Amino acid sequence: MSAPGVAGDAIAGAGPALTPLRLASFARYPRVRHGITGRVHGLWREGDTSYATGGDPARVFDNRRAWGVRIGVDAERIVAVRQVHGNTVDSVDASARGRGARALDAARVPAADALLTAAADTPLLLGFADCTPLLFHDPARDVVGLAHAGWRGTVADIAGETVRAMSARFGSAPGDIVAGIGPAIGRCCYMVDQPVTDAWHALGVADETVLEEIAPVAGRRQWRFDLARANRLLLERAGVRPEQIEDTAICTSCNVEAFPSHRAQQGQAGRFAAIISLIGND
Ligand SMILES: [Zn+2]
Repeated sequence: MSAPGVAGDAIAGAGPALTPLRLASFARYPRVRHGITGRVHGLWREGDTSYATGGDPARVFDNRRAWGVRIGVDAERIVAVRQVHGNTVDSVDASARGRGARALDAARVPAADALLTAAADTPLLLGFADCTPLLFHDPARDVVGLAHAGWRGTVADIAGETVRAMSARFGSAPGDIVAGIGPAIGRCCYMVDQPVTDAWHALGVADETVLEEIAPVAGRRQWRFDLARANRLLLERAGVRPEQIEDTAICTSCNVEAFPSHRAQQGQAGRFAAIISLIGND
């Protein structure tokens, strides 16, 4: 695993060095291309990849294209969704290529927080700035996927919903699925209050470590919430084998120089992207 956006292997004439973060467990599959982008000072808005943060769409596209070159995907073919902190899983085929590549047009781009495809050369992209990126691959059925799990998506079990959608729509056996947990705000930096803890407990996952109560703040009870662990437990409950889940264990807030962090940047953050694609034979 290498940190993204760290100088050292710039392509001559290509501007700043872009080094996407990769998961070792995904890199072993030759048909899968994937990468997680980061903050890069030489790029517009430090590499923001989102059309939802109010920037110039042409420059967002240029950032995506720059990262796409390094990951090996065509930015014109990227498929995205309008992320709404829900648990809807959108499945696409090759006819969706380019849907969300240049804009998040509400008439064309559905609201969802997970994407799946079995189509080659149809790269999927979701954006993040503290929420948990989840990556999926089923090498038996040749399916790839992504999910976006902030606290709302986590307590709505988008992790489990994505696994179940892979089974229902593509015939995946959960035990075949390889999953990755990307950089997200860590338990070191993420405090939540009672509505979040109530929603977590309502899922009925038996675990004593996802939440840790700390001293009250302004008279309100507060807990540390371990989003990565919560999502790992939900993946395991859905049937993903523990040894097939790789966690990057990177806190975006502690590593705000490398990744945008909504909390560390007081809401002014851009979005980094998780991108995944199957490569075809054509
Ligand atoms: Zn932290």
